[in-house]
Amino acid sequence: MPGEEVLHSRRTLSLRFDIPISRTHEFWDALKAGRLVTTKCTKCGNVTFPPQADCPKCSSGEFEWVDLGTEAKLLTYTQVLITPASFADSDPYIIAIGKLANGLNVLAWLEGIALEAVKPGMAMRLEPRSSKEGNPYYVFVAA
Ligand SMILES: [Zn+2]
Repeated sequence: MPGEEVLHSRRTLSLRFDIPISRTHEFWDALKAGRLVTTKCTKCGNVTFPPQADCPKCSSGEFEWVDLGTEAKLLTYTQVLITPASFADSDPYIIAIGKLANGLNVLAWLEGIALEAVKPGMAMRLEPRSSKEGNPYYVFVAA
């Protein structure tokens, strides 16, 4: 409400996210094993990424696992200089959106290339990785 007094807290708020993976744990298991898979709705054929247990197109809960594919073309990118708290120890990094051969757009870090060498339309490859803590993730690299 206008004119209402507001208390501005200077305390740091910390949030914890528990992401439910019970129906999509195959994705993480496959990623750990070095494979990229995703969900395909067995009712309407819609392929989604990130994997979704319930089809956003037809709401069916029936799905199968299919290979995601690794070849991509760079659509757009940005360099992140001011890193979020969760990446406070990271150097500046490049975030890219790549279009896979199956038409899906994937957002991931683009690693192993100098910013000056990054060009929209360039060929990239999606690669599984593992963090120091053993958590699987995926990045784009120049193909
Ligand atoms: Zn569907």
